[in-house]
Amino acid sequence: MNEAFDLRGKRVFVAGHRGMVGSAIVRRLAAEDCEILTVARSELDLLDQAGVRRWMADHRPDAVVMAAAKVGGILANDRLPVDFLHENLVVQTNVMESAFRSEVQKLLFLGSSCIYPKFAPQPIPEDALLTGPLEPTNEWYAIAKIAGLKLCQAYRRQHGVDYISAMPTNLYGQGDNFDLDSSHVIPALMRKAHEAKQAGRKSLQVWGSGKPMREFLYVDDAADALVFLLKNYSGDSHVNVGTGEDITIAELAATVASVVGSDATITFDPTKPDGTPRKLLDVSRLFATGWRPRYSLRSGLEQTYAWFLRHIEAGQVRLSAPES
Ligand code: GDP
Repeated sequence: MNEAFDLRGKRVFVAGHRGMVGSAIVRRLAAEDCEILTVARSELDLLDQAGVRRWMADHRPDAVVMAAAKVGGILANDRLPVDFLHENLVVQTNVMESAFRSEVQKLLFLGSSCIYPKFAPQPIPEDALLTGPLEPTNEWYAIAKIAGLKLCQAYRRQHGVDYISAMPTNLYGQGDNFDLDSSHVIPALMRKAHEAKQAGRKSLQVWGSGKPMREFLYVDDAADALVFLLKNYSGDSHVNVGTGEDITIAELAATVASVVGSDATITFDPTKPDGTPRKLLDVSRLFATGWRPRYSLRSGLEQTYAWFLRHIEAGQVRLSAPES
């Protein structure tokens, strides 16, 4: 990790700046001496190849962070396979190809820990990629992300450009999607615990068995790691981004209930899928650089709930499915 990319004076385009991760990257980049470029969805549809080429040629960024993606939790992935596969393939390909045409020097592509085989060794090293079958509930998204990281490698190999990719673990935090049908587990449980507390209900329903294990990273920590990689990493392999620690979904539910201040009893809904049994990332490559997360799970959850409470009254929390 020794080929530093100096952000000073650079124009950095963050694709997907309205999303949870993209907005955290914009907040983190504000501390760097660079110019941040964003574009509203109403002005540019990233599915429109000609539009993306034009926009990139007109704005000429020096670096691109590809944080635009169709994302969702376990049910949404399973129910909307075309959206997850097609939209992600098209958007990431448009952005990368247009960036290359416009001579972008550095590009950071974001994937996800679901790219790894369902029964990968734990913790999962970067080289577990493509060593076994994927978890069926999110294979559509995973295939698109694998194609994206391979496209970065292909651009490096064929054209010698510095396109890199990072694979963050399950992320959560401010700006998350709290729609129960399409969200990930943390915003879902936080909303359910909050509403149970408000209504004086004594039951908090958790999907599946509660036994799967997951690793969670607070989104501001993720943004910090990603900007660190943008500046300091230049390599062919993708890099895992996580905390190196995981917990069961049942333990997570108890922690969320405690942060929210709900004394509801946790119940399990076995009709909902568990998904992959465990996906803990091996973060030794990232940690070897000295980078560490700042937020514990509890403090990240407290930050997220404080944000939720500050924004819920004003109608600024996403409580229904985002339009695709
Ligand atoms: P995954 O990491 O791709 O499986 O994504 P999720 O964050 O959607 O789910 C993680 C785990 O939490 C799975 O085992 C889910 O069954 C479980 N889970 C428990 N309750 C919920 C819930 O209310 N919503 C979601 N999305 N997952 C839940």
